[in-house]
Amino acid sequence: MIRETLAVGLLGCNCTVLGDEASREAIVVDPGYDIPRILAVLAQHQLTVNQIVVTHAHIDHIASALTLKEITGAPILYSKDDLPLVAIMDWQAALFQLAVPEVRPPDHSPAEGEWVNVKGVEAMVMLTPGHSEGSLCLYLPAEDLLLAGDTLFAGGVGRTDFPGGDSGKLMASLRERLLLLPDATVVVPGHGPETTIGIERRTNPFLA
Ligand SMILES: [Zn+2]
Repeated sequence: MIRETLAVGLLGCNCTVLGDEASREAIVVDPGYDIPRILAVLAQHQLTVNQIVVTHAHIDHIASALTLKEITGAPILYSKDDLPLVAIMDWQAALFQLAVPEVRPPDHSPAEGEWVNVKGVEAMVMLTPGHSEGSLCLYLPAEDLLLAGDTLFAGGVGRTDFPGGDSGKLMASLRERLLLLPDATVVVPGHGPETTIGIERRTNPFLA
């Protein structure tokens, strides 16, 4: 599998491109900003985007999803439980002094355990509320890979002080979901460096 992660936008959201070498189909996760850079990565690997997934509807993760959809024709998947965050996109933009992006409801709101597939790439949706009500992670068991959004970071966890955040739900998502994954699972968080489930289990102070 082809995987490229690039930090996009002023807030450094990790956008990840998952592609299959044979079919050249791809999933793009969290295309917050920097569409030209994302398109360059896709072109470099000769990939066609078939699915766009947004881990949660915070502005830095979702701002350019519609632009990428208009360019590629791929549907946008995120949880309808984050629609209240879409409704306050102007507030989110003002908070970070960003332009208000056009954000539409998802083409599809995936269910727990649902597979997001393109030919050769299989990612399972894990609904992990806490950082926001509709936060989700993508787990690729064949790759030992987790795209964690802002639920889990290297040495940290997602903040819960924005509307829809809930620290109790976040801890339940971490303890009852993410920490059940194998230690070897590589974690790509929504911001910052990669880590593994094993490292976080042993060293993350928020999980002690
Ligand atoms: Zn966020």
